[in-house]
Amino acid sequence: MEDNQIIRLSTVCSSDRRMDILDTHKMLDTPVNKYEISCKVCNFPNIDKTPEPYFIAKGRDFSGIEIMEADLGNLFVSIRVKKIFEILFPDQCTYKKTFIYQTEISTKWWLAIPNKLVVNGEVKKNIKRCLACNQPLHAHPGTQYKFWLQELEATADIAKSGNWLSTDEYDWKNCWIGRDVFLSLRLISLLKKISAKGIYKTAMTDNPKYGQLTKAEKLWVEQSLEKIGDLKTIIKSDITKEGIDKFKLFFLISDKSDLKIALFEKKFKISANEITTLICSIKSGTQIIIGFDNPLIIGDIEHWKITKAKNKLVAFAFDEYGNYLLFSPSDKNCPVYFYDHETMLYDLIQSSILNLSAG
Ligand SMILES: [Zn+2]
Repeated sequence: MEDNQIIRLSTVCSSDRRMDILDTHKMLDTPVNKYEISCKVCNFPNIDKTPEPYFIAKGRDFSGIEIMEADLGNLFVSIRVKKIFEILFPDQCTYKKTFIYQTEISTKWWLAIPNKLVVNGEVKKNIKRCLACNQPLHAHPGTQYKFWLQELEATADIAKSGNWLSTDEYDWKNCWIGRDVFLSLRLISLLKKISAKGIYKTAMTDNPKYGQLTKAEKLWVEQSLEKIGDLKTIIKSDITKEGIDKFKLFFLISDKSDLKIALFEKKFKISANEITTLICSIKSGTQIIIGFDNPLIIGDIEHWKITKAKNKLVAFAFDEYGNYLLFSPSDKNCPVYFYDHETMLYDLIQSSILNLSAG
């Protein structure tokens, strides 16, 4: 790819339910992560210094989604999308692991921080600024920006705005701040082609110039599909014999109990697959270390609980404090969730229960 190539980009948006932004009683749009303060007078944060470790709110599970907006112009991406970005745009993002809020449990999401900054708006001259650091006290893009571009040209496929905006017109502290994230039209098209879901081209203005891909952009999409090879298709964690053997060893499974399986199927109204059959035969007492002070201890089938949540999860390992691990029996790979008794929320921690025994 030539260095000075001009690429057409558009802002993207995703679900209002964000992974690193919460609505609290104190403030709408409260960031989960704490930013370093760069000005002691107006408390403006250092918006270019990403907090570490980077947390994702508890109870935010987006299955079937692979790319989402993150706070301040960054993105959350799946491991597949990360690999694709690394092949197609080797230097355009910096990646950070993410963790379930206030824990050391990593999530399946990577934070992708665009290295390319673009200017897509400018605050009007008459807006009050902090006397110490000169940051505007508020920057509503509709009324307090001189201009606000949703589409622009740049020399990268992934970018974020260097400028920031606030939805509050009086004080950014009332609602936090935001930055736009841009993807190239050709990348948006590629993501659509490979079913990497989660983001949408922002349709603020109906700019016919940006409605369709050019011939060159279409060609780029075709060539990129070639380049990414097998990553075109969604990665499914395969259930291998080796994985099953490790699982049996880890959970002390020596035989299968048909009686338990029958009870299980009746109780949860499902037909047990290969993995759920094994889970029915897990022996009591297995300890599972998942990054907490104390490991979780397997209870037996009579103690299994079921969540009232829409996607029913079944608990199979408990600790003495009331936390437990759950899995999703309706999913072929049986993803594993953690239940936190203090927050009463469930978090996806592994894309398959087999991964628990893989380490
Ligand atoms: Zn200031």
